[in-house]
Amino acid sequence: MIRNRILSIISAVVLILALTAGIAFRAFSSRDPEPEMLDGPGSVVMPEDSQPQGPEEPEITEPQSPVIAIPESAGAAEGNGSGPAPQAPELTWIEGLEIPEYSGQAYVAINGNVPFFDTEAIAPVSYEIYYQLDDLGRCTLADAVVGQDIMASGKRGSISEIKPTGWHTERYSFVDGEALYNRCHLIAHYLTGEDANPRNLVTGTRYMNTAGMNALENMVGDYIKETGNHVRYRVTPVWTGDNLICDGLLVEAWSVEDGGEDICFCIYAYNVQPGIVIDYLTGDNYATDGEKPKDQNSEPSYAKYLLEEDVTGTYVLNTKKKKFHRPDCQGVNDIAPENREEYTGSRNGLVEEGYVPCGGCNP
Ligand SMILES: [Zn+2]
Repeated sequence: MIRNRILSIISAVVLILALTAGIAFRAFSSRDPEPEMLDGPGSVVMPEDSQPQGPEEPEITEPQSPVIAIPESAGAAEGNGSGPAPQAPELTWIEGLEIPEYSGQAYVAINGNVPFFDTEAIAPVSYEIYYQLDDLGRCTLADAVVGQDIMASGKRGSISEIKPTGWHTERYSFVDGEALYNRCHLIAHYLTGEDANPRNLVTGTRYMNTAGMNALENMVGDYIKETGNHVRYRVTPVWTGDNLICDGLLVEAWSVEDGGEDICFCIYAYNVQPGIVIDYLTGDNYATDGEKPKDQNSEPSYAKYLLEEDVTGTYVLNTKKKKFHRPDCQGVNDIAPENREEYTGSRNGLVEEGYVPCGGCNP
């Protein structure tokens, strides 16, 4: 049952949040004007239910209706680097967005957890659009109706050649995987199969990528896989001024065939990392406890897995455990379908993304 799945994901997230809430924390150097808090703590938790209307949500602003036509070549990806990308529309829905200050939760429901887009105009036809970068080279918007026909075929390529705005490579011992920043997909590879598309990748903290985005992406992807239904899925990076690091990502999703019954959310994921202060203008950063980032010239923890001379190969990934195998490894049979991806490309690129070779098949 989807609802059970959603509930179990929510409980898992709540548990993780409860566990991380104990981590000591200081304010981030956000350049935002002081955002007004939403109505008390009750409004900043992820709702228990995916129903669009929360009873104690008094301030639901009138949803904006950006008109986004379904491209004639429905199903095709626009702006994925193979051709000219359309110019982003005016992002009216994030103007005046009131985002509560980060307070220990990776994400927060916005707008009563109801997407800003006009749900009546959505047809159950897949499309995906990655809009043009802005003048500063920053991602503007990724918008899709995701159906099984455009979901990842399982194959993915390296993204390590992309350097999104504000990209830095600082590593800290207390960050999961060490690297503070990840190349963070706006629309996950799992959903639309996009790899090294610069219009779909921002510099995002490890924390936003894992604690903020992953659960949402998996919930939506699993739902589409299980039902064959479509989900309108739109991700808008929120930028302040000329900052090269986005404040966060606004993720809106709505399941089409059932009118938002099973999937309906409007979630803002904070681009923050517990224990680290980020200068959003440049991407510079430091640890609040004074720990220096690892020497840029020191070997990263994954260095032992790098080949002196890189090779191109086909591997099977466990995207959850971050392991890669030879395609004929016995271990690949145990990978759950939603965590399994086939990859063809640079082996070192895979290692740099945090993947570790399986000890059994030694790929
Ligand atoms: Zn293996």
